[in-house]
Amino acid sequence: MAEGRPALPPLRDVIARHGLAASKALGQNFLLDEQLLDRIAAIPGPLRDAPAFEVGPGPGGLTRAILRAGARLVAVERDRRCLPALAELEEAFPGQLRTLSGDAMEIDARAEAGEGAHIIANLPYNVGTPLLVGWLSADWSPLPWWRSLTLMFQMEVAERIVAQPGTDHYGRLAILSQWRSDARIAMKVHRSAFTPPPKVMSAVVHITPKPAPDGVQLKYLERLTAAAFGQRRKMLRQSLKGLPGALEALDQIGIDPQRRAETVSVAEFVDVARILSR
Ligand code: SAM
Repeated sequence: MAEGRPALPPLRDVIARHGLAASKALGQNFLLDEQLLDRIAAIPGPLRDAPAFEVGPGPGGLTRAILRAGARLVAVERDRRCLPALAELEEAFPGQLRTLSGDAMEIDARAEAGEGAHIIANLPYNVGTPLLVGWLSADWSPLPWWRSLTLMFQMEVAERIVAQPGTDHYGRLAILSQWRSDARIAMKVHRSAFTPPPKVMSAVVHITPKPAPDGVQLKYLERLTAAAFGQRRKMLRQSLKGLPGALEALDQIGIDPQRRAETVSVAEFVDVARILSR
């Protein structure tokens, strides 16, 4: 047995032996191709001895790949049926994996996974966006507690995260994802790679944080983008008129109030939010 690569049974056998028929309600679409899983686990960069956090390990395909890469992993799974399969992985990778039984929406990932953790997950579709928004809204002083996010989403959500101004997908999620982080699509994944295949294509998004721009409070940026994109086809002078100080801030920076929200760059939104934050 090569170091870090214990012989493990095929994932299909694990699923059959533990009776893990996929549950639609839990967003279960499993990845079974170990080469693909190793490629996903390589996206954050070297993981040897690094803390990592996974949401929804399921039968443990991505979990194995993260463990093979050498991480110290905390994984939270809501489906109790998966726990025996995950206990086998805890044994196969002694001291590397701690499995928590519960709902990722209710767990304090920072306390469980520790500072500087890489978050890596093939997310359940129904909680993927709220979890991402929570991680992106963390305290940032000068960086967040997590080191990187490597997350599988439905393609449409991935496109909203990395969207550029002037495109249909550009909106609040793009600005939240990009104003103090770099966000890119690291890999597109065909629906046929999943068991069972979902209706739509997927993509792995990789997000790395940067120091936040000075003098900008997230709550003002959020109020601004909520107002601007609440009426995305309207001119800013209409959509922002209910937000105190916003039209004056546009004037101060020299942003034409006849523009629409979807034409305003992330940096321009940040400049307006900085004035509102004063
Ligand atoms: N990681 C596995 C893989 O890549 O094959 C499974 C991914 S599957 C898309 C999503 C997993 O998240 C399922 O195992 C599901 O039971 C789990 N899950 C769903 N909702 C959850 C929640 N709120 N908290 C934790 N896990 C959850």
